[in-house]
Amino acid sequence: MNLQAIIGLETHVQLKTASKMFCGCSNHSEGVAPNVNVCPVCLGHPGVLPVPNEQAIRSAILLGLALDGKIAKHSKFDRKNYFYPDLPKSYQISQFDLPIMSEGSLTFEVPGEEKTITIGIERLHLEEDAAKNIHGDDGKTYVDFNRGGTPLVEIVTHPHFTSAAQAKAYLQEIRLIVRTLGISYGDMEKGQLRADVNISMREVDENGEPLSKSLNPKTEIKNVNSFKAVERAIEYEIQRQTKLWEADDIPRLTTTRGWSDAKQVTELQRTKEGFADYRYFPEPDIPPMDLADLADEISHKIPELPKAKRDRFITEYGIKPSEAKQIIDDPALADFTEQALSELEAWLQAEPDVDSEQATIQRQKLTKLFVSWLLNKLLGVVAERKIGLKIMKITPENFAEFIKLIAEGKLTGQSGLQVLGRMLDDGSDPSDVMDELGASRLDDVSALIKVIDAVIEESSDEVARYKAGDTKLLQWFMGQVMKETHGKADPDTTVRLIGERLQ
Ligand code: ZN
Ligand code: MN
Repeated sequence: MNLQAIIGLETHVQLKTASKMFCGCSNHSEGVAPNVNVCPVCLGHPGVLPVPNEQAIRSAILLGLALDGKIAKHSKFDRKNYFYPDLPKSYQISQFDLPIMSEGSLTFEVPGEEKTITIGIERLHLEEDAAKNIHGDDGKTYVDFNRGGTPLVEIVTHPHFTSAAQAKAYLQEIRLIVRTLGISYGDMEKGQLRADVNISMREVDENGEPLSKSLNPKTEIKNVNSFKAVERAIEYEIQRQTKLWEADDIPRLTTTRGWSDAKQVTELQRTKEGFADYRYFPEPDIPPMDLADLADEISHKIPELPKAKRDRFITEYGIKPSEAKQIIDDPALADFTEQALSELEAWLQAEPDVDSEQATIQRQKLTKLFVSWLLNKLLGVVAERKIGLKIMKITPENFAEFIKLIAEGKLTGQSGLQVLGRMLDDGSDPSDVMDELGASRLDDVSALIKVIDAVIEESSDEVARYKAGDTKLLQWFMGQVMKETHGKADPDTTVRLIGERLQ
C-alpha cells in the first residue's frame, strides 16, 4: 500500500495595527499588566457598537493581493457563535461567506526539493482574537483580556501539501511576506503567527496518483507554536496515521489533537464540530463593505515580494540561491545588501572601461567578496556583540568602501577584521580606521625582507628542518611574519620572499 499525506494549513496572523479590530484600545500589550488595554467594546458589554479598524482592512487586502488572490468587491462580517471563558460576547466577529480574499496562491522553494511548489489558498478573512487563558500555579485559570479583540487575518490553504518540509517552508514564506509588507511582526513564539494543521492520508498508485479523489476524515492539530513543532507534529501524525492504515484501522472520524512539545506527540482533544454548529449569521452592527476602490488603490502599493527579490538577486547580482535566501530572509539585511551593492556599482561605473568584459569579471568578483564578508564575517561579529543589523553602526556606504579596500588589496583579510571591529565600535570610515591603526597592507619588499630576516635569525632550528626538507614549515614562517606585522603582510609577496630568503 502506498500512502500519501494530504495537508492543509490554517494560519492566523496578528496584525500590528495601533488599535484593536473593533475598538480604540491599544493593540500593543507586550510587557503590559493584564486587563489594562480593555474597554466596554472588547469586553463585550451589552449595547456597545463595534467599529471596524480601517488599517486592519487595508492590511488584509494588501496580504490578499500579495497572495495573488481575488479581493471581494462586497464583503461583510459575521458572528461565529460559541461559548468559552476567553470570549466575553459568546461569539467571535469573523467572516463567513464573503471573506476579504479568495482563490489565492503562493509559489515558493522548499529546501531539499528541486522544483518550486505552488499552494492554492482558498480564502483569507479578518476576525478578532479571543482573550488569553492563563493557567496559574494555584490550579486556577485566569483570563487576560488585553489580547481580546486584536485583529487577526486567517489564511486557509487548500490541502495541497504532502510533506512536513513543504508546510514549514510555506509558513516561513508567509512570515517573511507579512514582515516585508510591514503588517505583522510574525513572531511564532509570541503567538503573532499561529498555525493549525489539517492532515489525513490517502492511497496513491506507483506514480503518486491518488486512487480516489475524495479525502478521508482528517486530524486537526491546533496551535502549533514554532516552525520546528509544525514539522515534528506533521511527521508524528503521518507516522501515527500510517500505522492505523497498515493495521486496517483507518480513521473514520474528524478529530482535533493537540501537539505536546514536552512529549513530542499529538494527543486527542475532541471530535470536531462542523461549521453548522457555530450558527454563523451576519453581524448586524457593522454595515457591509465595498472594497473595490480600496483594493484598486492598494494594488499600486505592493512592495517587491520575497520570491521576486530572491530571483532578482540571483539573476541581477549573480548571488548563489542559498545565499540570496539567507540575505532576503531578513528584510534589514536585504536592504543593507542592495544599498552596499549599488555603492560598489557606482564605483565600477566610475572606472574608465566600464562596459568591458573586464568590468563584468570585476563586478562578479566584487559581489562574491561582498557576500562572503557580509555572511561569514560581518554577521558573525554582529551576532557575537548581540546587536541587531538595524542598530549596527556600519552604514552600507562604509561597508562598500571597506570591500573596495579589500578588493584593491589595500587591506588583508586579517587586518580587515580588525578594521571591521573598529567600524562597529564607532561607525567610523574604513580608510580613516586603516590609517589610524596603520593597518594598510604591507607589501613594501624591503620592509618585508627586514621582518623575514629577523624571523629567520631567531629560528635556527626551524631553518635547519626546512632545509632538511620539511617544506611544510613555510606555513609556520608565514605565521611568524603575520604575527610580527599584525596581519598586515601581503600574503603572496610574503610567501615568495620567505622562499627566496630560505634558499
Ligand atoms: Zn477595547
Ligand atoms: Mn480563526
